[in-house]
Amino acid sequence: MNALIDPSKFQDPFITAKGETRASVAWDQLKTLWLNTGSLCNITCANCYIKSSPTADHFVYLTTDDITDYLDEIDAMDQGAVEIGMTGGEPCMNPHFAAMSELVLARGHDLLVLTNAMKPMMRRRVQDAILDLNARFPGKLTFRVSLDHFTAAGHDAERGDGSFEIALTGMDWLAEHNLSMHIAGRAMFSESDMIARDGYRALIEKHGWDIDASNPAALMLFPEMDEQVDVPEITTACWDILSVHPESMMCANSRMVVKRKGADKPAVLSCTLLWDDPQFEMGQTLKESLTPVQLNHPHCAKFCVLGGASCSA
Ligand code: SF4
Ligand code: SF4
Repeated sequence: MNALIDPSKFQDPFITAKGETRASVAWDQLKTLWLNTGSLCNITCANCYIKSSPTADHFVYLTTDDITDYLDEIDAMDQGAVEIGMTGGEPCMNPHFAAMSELVLARGHDLLVLTNAMKPMMRRRVQDAILDLNARFPGKLTFRVSLDHFTAAGHDAERGDGSFEIALTGMDWLAEHNLSMHIAGRAMFSESDMIARDGYRALIEKHGWDIDASNPAALMLFPEMDEQVDVPEITTACWDILSVHPESMMCANSRMVVKRKGADKPAVLSCTLLWDDPQFEMGQTLKESLTPVQLNHPHCAKFCVLGGASCSA
């Protein structure tokens, strides 16, 4: 059995429990701006790290007005087009999904939409908008579909009976219309990365989807996020010891915009992983948010520095 997190760890943002200097990640340059379009989801998964469900309203729907200022800030950075990622919840449930997507694409950015490819994506109004945007902005729109496992039993254990078949129908629809599609799977069910990739590969070939199962960006396998397991704290010495570069952390090149229930304005978080810890709320504007991030959370150690997890393509 794994040991629980030592309560003396992850207390001081700057100093570890052993009195060493905690590692931080300085801002590098923008690669991905994530928009959490809202926490509502059409389903309730057993291990949803962001606690989405049909009643989860901790993040309310973003609107085109909410995101315009951030797109203006990106323009002012003068580094050209970036990737905008939409996540949730289920982004296709947001009534402003089509308008926000159009705004992002019209500014020249690539748009990555994380979806479960279920009923919200398959509503006629949403489908029409997706096809229209893909025709007008060819090669700029990608869907990353959450398919927890390559078997119905594995996927449905997480998402509910029948959800595998519903997701496959959505993925077939994306493929039939030549929409760019990636898969986000979970590593928990599989004995090894190779077994997982072989399993997904067989499913991909059966359905004729244009996805390279060997490509870690096209088939991402995410580790389980066990919040209880003890992990070491990351000090400034760790980068050299582990040969890991701070610039390779998601918080060196990404931020996530959320709008908390009851808030007047959206807030910018350090990354997609730490959504409920106020330490990682970096400000209201993108500019304010570009300060160094102190790695004062077990996720920083487990998923980023030690585990290599990244939510960005
Ligand atoms: S589909 Fe995604 S956002 Fe919705 S509950 Fe499942 S893991 Fe969470
Ligand atoms: S969880 Fe990872 S990306 Fe997020 S702040 Fe910690 S190190 Fe950075």
